[in-house]
Amino acid sequence: MPASQVSDIRHDWTRDEVLALFKQPFNDLLFQAQVVHRQHFNPNEVQLSTLLSIKTGACPEDCKYCPQSARYDTGLEKEQLMAVDQVIEEAKAAKASGATRFCMGAAWRSPKDKDLPAVAEMVRQVKALGMETCMTLGMLKEDQAQMLADAGLDYYNHNLDTSPEYYGEIITTRTYQDRLNTLDSVRRAGMKVCAGGIVGMGEGEKDRAGLLMQLANLPQHPESVPINMLVKVAGTPLDQQDDLDPFEFIRTIAVARILMPKSHVRLSAGREEMNDQMQALAFMAGANSIFYCEKLLTTPNPKANRDMELLGRLGIVPETRHVARDSDEEEQALRQAVAEAASDHLFYNAAN
Ligand code: SF4
Repeated sequence: MPASQVSDIRHDWTRDEVLALFKQPFNDLLFQAQVVHRQHFNPNEVQLSTLLSIKTGACPEDCKYCPQSARYDTGLEKEQLMAVDQVIEEAKAAKASGATRFCMGAAWRSPKDKDLPAVAEMVRQVKALGMETCMTLGMLKEDQAQMLADAGLDYYNHNLDTSPEYYGEIITTRTYQDRLNTLDSVRRAGMKVCAGGIVGMGEGEKDRAGLLMQLANLPQHPESVPINMLVKVAGTPLDQQDDLDPFEFIRTIAVARILMPKSHVRLSAGREEMNDQMQALAFMAGANSIFYCEKLLTTPNPKANRDMELLGRLGIVPETRHVARDSDEEEQALRQAVAEAASDHLFYNAAN
């Protein structure tokens, strides 16, 4: 397929077409993904999001990869829904460290109506800080989606996880159609969709193709597509899963980029275990969003420095914010931090 044709926005992909993209020689696939990426994005910018768990553990669902399921003994400490003030403190710290989007996740099958006013208040107050907001709270009913939209929620995350065919191997407590229904409610309420999946769960390439085909064939592409590499957590049913060939992960990102040219493709869970070269390949394949500074929001975080250094070495800068911000200096300071991290690295200290 000529590169000039691959970036058309389509919603009618067939499994064979998607598999054909996967099966190309690696260099051809990456080149094609780069061409598409450059048609729609600055290839040297990455969007930074921060993720906060606002309610941890004790989830009744049985997702086999998830340490938050109450069905698996993973040693995770359960926590109640956080207080609004506490969430806002975390959001302020995330903003100060450069995140433009604040994602809040709760381990629920679906939110209870009694919890929604507090959650909506979190959205209102994070928005007031000038950040984009995203939530992931499980399945949503239409009126719940509308309430969140009315509070100003920008994005709702709800992943499809894998292909419809492989789905039953991973989750039995909700159906694929339940997931599609939630995405539909989110769209109807006027919010942007964040939906992706997880690879490395024992699925085949046809399932990775099936997942991406489902996402690309939605009536509207998700604005944000997180591609997660399974993190094998002790105590979950997938903790002994064989490793996926890392190049298959990169291929999945590249195919996501080609299928959904205007979406942000997020290099998500599993990044901790990836070396710098692998992350650089993911950016080359079209990933242009990362979770940054996860969890360690209010304490000194070496991971943040490592991220800055990597972005600096690659000449990548944080994507300019799309929402009103009260401090251009802050943005400038962030770009400066990336530049400094890069130049520090370039100078070799002969005294060491
Ligand atoms: S619904 Fe979410 S929190 Fe609950 S087990 Fe599944 S992935 Fe984990």
